[in-house]
Amino acid sequence: MPSSPDSPALTVTPLPAFNDNYLWLLARGQEAAVVDPGDAAPVRRALDRHNLRLSAILVTHHHGDHVGGVLDLKSRTGARVYGPAGEQIEGVDIGLRGGEHAEVLGADFRVIDVPGHTAGHIAYFVPGESPPRLFCGDTLFACGCGRMFGGTARQMLASLDALAALPPSTLVYCAHEYTLSNIRFALSVEPANAALRERAARDEATRQRGEPTVPSTIGLELATNPFLRCDVPEVRASITHGTVDAVDRTAIFAALRKRKDNFR
Ligand SMILES: [Zn+2]
Repeated sequence: MPSSPDSPALTVTPLPAFNDNYLWLLARGQEAAVVDPGDAAPVRRALDRHNLRLSAILVTHHHGDHVGGVLDLKSRTGARVYGPAGEQIEGVDIGLRGGEHAEVLGADFRVIDVPGHTAGHIAYFVPGESPPRLFCGDTLFACGCGRMFGGTARQMLASLDALAALPPSTLVYCAHEYTLSNIRFALSVEPANAALRERAARDEATRQRGEPTVPSTIGLELATNPFLRCDVPEVRASITHGTVDAVDRTAIFAALRKRKDNFR
């Protein structure tokens, strides 16, 4: 359900946690929600500082750095907890599957199944905001993607394809600040990609100022993220060294992911 024209805007703020996690704090007026609260402390501080009331907790997958603060926040605030129906996560009130919806802060959160990083991973797409928003946990990263712990290359690629099909203006809120190392890898695959080189310069400057490089957009990811570019001749050539034309895109994706796993 789109918010009414006179309701306050939805704000989204990164709360840094651990080494490189972002917990995403959403607010409309004084009502708040949080995505993937791996740690309760930074969320509690932000709620206190801005006098916000937490009404919802949204979880994308079961890893500890995404769920560690759920029970603490739930017991203190009574917030309703949404999470993937396909994973065992303590404290989840409403299990969600792809195609289902949750209404949070007056907005429609559409659930997309994105198995691969974990088997039951879900993402939340908010189409009614302008621009639309995507909370994708550890599936799509800025200029990269998550490691495959719970799925096959075919599943992970299908998950990334589903996210890549969202409107290009969609703001992409991933859960980690991995961007510069992802860009270094992307440049090793596509050294001549002008949009990627531009992004590298811009995001390096952003990090030098100590600011987050996220959110990015689906449009920027399509232009620069090698894992969304398995059909691009330069990416295919980098993997096959120009020798194998017939390699299917899943094999290209799997080889890219493996190369990234070993990239230093
Ligand atoms: Zn994870």
